[in-house]
Amino acid sequence: MIKLSDIGEFGLIKRFSRQFLQDIPGKYTGIGDDCAVIPVNEKEVLLVTTDMLIEGSHFMRNKISAFDLGQKSLMVNVSDIAAMGGTPRSAYLSIGLTTETDVKWIDDFFKGIRHVCQEYNMFLLGGDTTRSHDRLVINFAVIGAGIPQKIKRRSSAVPGDIICINDYIGDSGGGLQVLLNDLPQDKDSKYLIKRHNVPRANIREGKWLSGWKEVHAMMDVSDGIESDIHRIMESSEVGAEIDLDKVPLSEELRRTAEKYKWNAHELGASGGEDYCLMVTISEKNPDKIIKEYEKEFKKPLYKIGRITESKGDLIFRYAGKLTGLAKHGWDHFK
Ligand code: ADP
Ligand code: MG
Repeated sequence: MIKLSDIGEFGLIKRFSRQFLQDIPGKYTGIGDDCAVIPVNEKEVLLVTTDMLIEGSHFMRNKISAFDLGQKSLMVNVSDIAAMGGTPRSAYLSIGLTTETDVKWIDDFFKGIRHVCQEYNMFLLGGDTTRSHDRLVINFAVIGAGIPQKIKRRSSAVPGDIICINDYIGDSGGGLQVLLNDLPQDKDSKYLIKRHNVPRANIREGKWLSGWKEVHAMMDVSDGIESDIHRIMESSEVGAEIDLDKVPLSEELRRTAEKYKWNAHELGASGGEDYCLMVTISEKNPDKIIKEYEKEFKKPLYKIGRITESKGDLIFRYAGKLTGLAKHGWDHFK
């Protein structure tokens, strides 16, 4: 018997998706990217994404407020729209609740959802409500729109491309460690918890980046750089080199990592749920785009590595020397 834990989440998706992918018409993008892309006309495509959060697996109810959980559940879906360079339009919420749930808690949860809807100018248009026997289950689907020529996929990276990310990484993984280990909450650890509980979707940044033809592949980092660069490598049939010492870490994470003897760079590369954007940019003149990005957003786009021809090979370097990673990215079944 092959157990699910033997093949893992991505092995499973690969296993069942082959048969479906062969049926999908050429103009559609199906399983394998941040969103499905459905053609509408020459000027517009629909983007569709869905993500599920299960109590005990994705969150602990006593470690996140109802308001923040409402925000996060929707935000992780909006982030997938950002990853294609699109605009979110509508959301659909299916939710399984236990009979004991405090109605005030549910009110706050929906306030969090409304907050995100208003921030991104989108609407909750439907869903499903059902009883769950032992835990809270939340599933959002989000529909967005994009311009066909500008949509960025995971499959467009080419050897020589510079790999960039647009935010600090590892804060969310650090926040999770603080929560799991009940560590004292000082200013730094509170910041990390906030980054874990309330991620931001980079809609404006994603749209801006998608306007450049020099930006080749794009995705949001939800499972950690190490796991997610593999998704680009597989889709684009390339390899990659990552300079761990170039992976940007916040001062808050550095200080907290030092205090608790965590390996901050490893958290940065293998912790998940950061929801920043990762792009590959043509090697011709990446600094032009990086400079323009800084001008536009008043924050940097960080170069962390390079796409190589060596299909399937991922190399990590630290200060120019080859290194390995002890921990690997997130997989639900491993
Ligand atoms: P993301 O982290 O961007 O949400 P995932 O890594 O969860 O993407 O999923 C990878 C791809 O596999 C996505 O294109 C997603 O739509 C697809 N996928 C995952 N699970 C299923 C499923 N049960 N049925 C169909 N497609 C799926
Ligand atoms: Mg994604």
